Amino acid sequence: MGIRSFFGIVPFRVRHGQELPYLDMRDAVPESPVKLTAGFLQEKPTELREKLQTFGFGLGAVPSDADTVIVSACDTDPAVTIQQHVFSLYPDTVARGLSLLQHIIQPKKIVLAIFPCQRKRAVSLAADLAEVAVIAPVYPNGFPQMLASMVKRLRSGVGTSMYVNAERLVAMTNAVETGAAPTTKLVSLSGSGFPQRKNVCVRVGQSVQSVLDSQSVDMAVVRKVVCGGLLTGSAIYQPAAIQVTSQTDGIAAQTEKELVRYESVPCFNCGKCTAVCPARLKVNHLARYAEYSRFDTCREYAIDSCIGCGLCSYVCPAHRPLLQLISFASDELKKGEAAV
Ligand code: SF4
Ligand code: SF4
Repeated sequence: MGIRSFFGIVPFRVRHGQELPYLDMRDAVPESPVKLTAGFLQEKPTELREKLQTFGFGLGAVPSDADTVIVSACDTDPAVTIQQHVFSLYPDTVARGLSLLQHIIQPKKIVLAIFPCQRKRAVSLAADLAEVAVIAPVYPNGFPQMLASMVKRLRSGVGTSMYVNAERLVAMTNAVETGAAPTTKLVSLSGSGFPQRKNVCVRVGQSVQSVLDSQSVDMAVVRKVVCGGLLTGSAIYQPAAIQVTSQTDGIAAQTEKELVRYESVPCFNCGKCTAVCPARLKVNHLARYAEYSRFDTCREYAIDSCIGCGLCSYVCPAHRPLLQLISFASDELKKGEAAV
């Protein structure tokens, strides 16, 4: 496998035609081995699954009879573009990954979910390995639950489905082919605290502060650091003590001008939260029961169907912390289940 230096900033196209630069913080990255054939097809599916398990890809939990596998190159937060980016950088690895999934899971169908700007690339690489589903680039369409229900609507005969995003698929394929566990992660940087909005490749385990430092972020002007996406992430207060994990899709460094200060007032039943909820929940009722710790009643209001998109909080004119209340109730219910 060839190795090429990758110090430069390479623009890549993301949704809405906007281009963002990409900077790799490592010395070199493996070049996508375009000519490599899927040699793992000679290995037994059970052995490959075990191999993946040792690299931390818990495929053991995936039903071996998964009807449909959804491979997604759609991102799950407006400030994150890593799935689209991985798909642009490593199309051949994604293609071999589709073969890998077909080999070890043998689903009836693999669906490759993409935003419209990736259509051409997706159609050529999917060939007869997967069906391509073009997803409208509207938040929160990239969420696994949204994709599963959309794919169900678009394709008849879809039963149980499994979700793998493009970054994970590439990491799985590399692990099988090279025998090396993934140690790096793409992270989208956003917020005016960063000199430039970009994606960077960082080592899993390094501190969030080291990522900020590597981009010469002036911490004297940063008022809030958010880990995860802008709508789905959480504010952190000690970036030096927080590590980048395989789940850290984004880091936002916000300055004073991006902070929104408001006080929440009681709900006045405008219904906007319920109207916007993609899971069609009665959000105002659910949040009230969560607020008063009526967790069992939250379950009756289908709290488990909440996908955590945060749209309800975003639209609420009373600035109610709806997602936080629902997340709190959800955590309490999970704790209760774990204690049984
Ligand atoms: S959007 Fe806010 S004010 Fe309106 S019903 Fe929902 S919680 Fe109440
Ligand atoms: S976060 Fe809010 S809008 Fe999103 S699914 Fe949950 S209740 Fe519905």
